[in-house]
Amino acid sequence: MTQNSELRTNNKPIPYGRQHITDDDIAAVVETLQSDFLTQGPKVAEFEQAFAEYVGAKYAVACSNGTAALHLCTMALGVNKESRVITTPITFVASANCVRYCGGTVEFSDIDPDTALLDIHKVRQLLESKPKGYYSGIIPVDFAGNPVNLEEFRKLADEFGLWIIEDACHAPGGYFIDSKGEKQLCGNGRYADLAIFSFHPVKHIATGEGGMVTTNDEKLYQELLKLRTHGITRDPALMEENHGGWYMEMQELGYNYRIPDMLCALGISQLRRADAGLARRRGIAKVYDKAFDNHSGIKVLGTSPDVFDAEGETGHAYHLYVIKVEDRRGLYDFLHQHNIFAQVHYIPAHTMPYYRSLGYKKGDYPEAENYYAGCLSLPMYPSLTQEEQEFVIEKVKEFLG
Ligand SMILES: *Cc1c(COP(=O)(O)O)cnc(C)c1O
Repeated sequence: MTQNSELRTNNKPIPYGRQHITDDDIAAVVETLQSDFLTQGPKVAEFEQAFAEYVGAKYAVACSNGTAALHLCTMALGVNKESRVITTPITFVASANCVRYCGGTVEFSDIDPDTALLDIHKVRQLLESKPKGYYSGIIPVDFAGNPVNLEEFRKLADEFGLWIIEDACHAPGGYFIDSKGEKQLCGNGRYADLAIFSFHPVKHIATGEGGMVTTNDEKLYQELLKLRTHGITRDPALMEENHGGWYMEMQELGYNYRIPDMLCALGISQLRRADAGLARRRGIAKVYDKAFDNHSGIKVLGTSPDVFDAEGETGHAYHLYVIKVEDRRGLYDFLHQHNIFAQVHYIPAHTMPYYRSLGYKKGDYPEAENYYAGCLSLPMYPSLTQEEQEFVIEKVKEFLG
C-alpha cells in the first residue's frame, strides 16, 4: 500500500459522480410528505420559478425527467415524420431519441476533437449540402458542462430557419461570453428556443428523477404545460367550450410527465446550494488541471475559449472531468481495482445497435469515435474530499508511470 492509500480513512468506493443530500433536503421532503399534496402542489411552481431565476429564463416547466423534458420540447416544436434534426454523437442517447419519439430523423454531425462539442463548421457544411428547409432543428449539448456558444449557433439557425433545443443537462449555472462580452447562462433562452435539464443523481441538482424545460417563449411555454399533463387544459380562456366548474379539455395527445411536489421540494432545497456545488466542481477541476499539466500520457479535454470572462474565471460547469489516454481500458480496470469508479462518456450514439439499424455505421463520425477510444471521466462531485481526489490522481499517475 502506498502512503496515500493508508491516509484514506476508509476504502469507500469513489464513483464518477454522486448526489449530495443534507439534513435540510431531508426536512424539506418530509415537510411536503406531511402536507396535503403528494403530486401537484405549490412546490412545483415554486421550483419552476426558482429555477427560471437561477438560469435567467422567463419560464420553466418541471417534469418527470430530462428525457421527458426533451420529448416535451420536440412535441412542442412540432417534430414529425418529415423533420430532420441535427445533434452530436457524443451525448447521452436521449438527446437523439427525443426526435425518434416523434417519428423524426436524427442526423448526427461530428464533434470538435478539442472540446468534444458539436463542431459548428461541420454543421454548416451539412446544412449547405441540402436545400433550405431540409433540416428543422439542432440539438447542441453543453457536453461535460462546457457551454456551447449559442450565439453562433443562433446565427446559423436563423440563416437556415431552424429551431434550437439546448441540452443543458451538464451545465446548470454554466455560461459562455457572447460577442458583446456578456455572460450568457445555459438555459437562459436568449439564443435557444428551449433548453432542458435533468435532476438525475449524478447531475448538479438531484431530485432522484426530475427534469426541467426553460424558455423565453410564452407560446411554447403554454404548449409544454399542456403536453406535460395529457394535452389537457383547465384554463377557460384556452377552451373551446365550457360546461361548468368541472370542465376541462384534452386538446391534443400529451403524456403524464409530471413531477411530484415532494421531489420539487428537494429540488428547491438543492438549488439553494447550487452555487456552492458549482464552485466546488470548479475547484476540483483546477486541482486535476494542475496535477495533469505537462503529463505526457494524459490529455485533458479542452475547454472552449469563449467561456472565460475578462478575469479568466471559467463558465464551465464541470459535470464531468474528462481525460484522454492511450490505454483507456487498462486505466479503467486499474482504477476500478482500487475502488475508483471512473466512467466513459459517451459511447457514440450512432454506433449503438438501434442507430446502426437506422443506417449509421462505425466510421461515420471519425472524431467522435477517436474521442471515444481514449476518454475517461474521473470522479467529479462536490462532496469528493481532497483526500479522495489526491488518491485518484495518485492512482492515475501510478498507472501511467
Ligand atoms: C442525463 C442526461 C439526459 C437525460 O436525463 P434523464 O433525467 O436521465 O432522463 C439527457 N441528456 C444529457 C446530456 C444527459 O446528461
